[in-house]
Amino acid sequence: MHTFEPSGTRIWTVVGREGEYLVSDDPPLCTCPAFYFSLVRTKKRECHHLLALDLAKRHDHFSTTPGHDEEMSIFLSLLWGRNLPPQESD
Ligand SMILES: [Zn+2]
Repeated sequence: MHTFEPSGTRIWTVVGREGEYLVSDDPPLCTCPAFYFSLVRTKKRECHHLLALDLAKRHDHFSTTPGHDEEMSIFLSLLWGRNLPPQESD
């Protein structure tokens, strides 16, 4: 879990085989392709990252990384942008 102060924002991430994904437990949400296909094909919100998050929380088995609000947008853009092609810099 990543926490950002002073807003108190809590962001869960789960590291999978192909990268780190943003997840949310309520409402269930994950940024991985499996979650998306599960949602559009069966209307179910599930993937193994959400299961992993559920297990980790139940067994109190997770690490917390504190940060500042100013770092949050960089943090999010790194995770959201990881599958994008490299940007050409001028
Ligand atoms: Zn997932």
